Amino acid sequence: MITLSIKTNLQTEWIDITRKVEDAVVREGVSDGLAVIFVPHTTSGVTINEGADPHVQEDFLRTINQVIPFKGAYRHSEGNSPAHIKTSLVGPSLTVMVESGRLVLGTWQSIFLCEFDGPRTRKVLIKLMAS
Ligand code: ZN
Repeated sequence: MITLSIKTNLQTEWIDITRKVEDAVVREGVSDGLAVIFVPHTTSGVTINEGADPHVQEDFLRTINQVIPFKGAYRHSEGNSPAHIKTSLVGPSLTVMVESGRLVLGTWQSIFLCEFDGPRTRKVLIKLMAS
């Protein structure tokens, strides 16, 4: 298992971790198989979406922060219920195929760590399984 440490800078943001995941695949020497990418946090998740136009993540964050506002009639005493809700919507893990030592992603796809309660330092766990 590989552990990445990712420092986030904002309360809510996406951080492109595609290159770091690819580097892990190369380091482990897995040429064909699966990569499981897992975020062991309850206010941060992971998603695949367009990496070419940064407006996509900007639109996502603006919209999700409107739909699930920072202030509301939340009961969770820690005060970060919106972050927990957003995290469950994107989910904690991805499975990505690996072929010829490379992640199988569409032309416009990138892997993003989704921060919903930053800034913090987050862990991303990667498990590679050869097939
Ligand atoms: Zn909480």
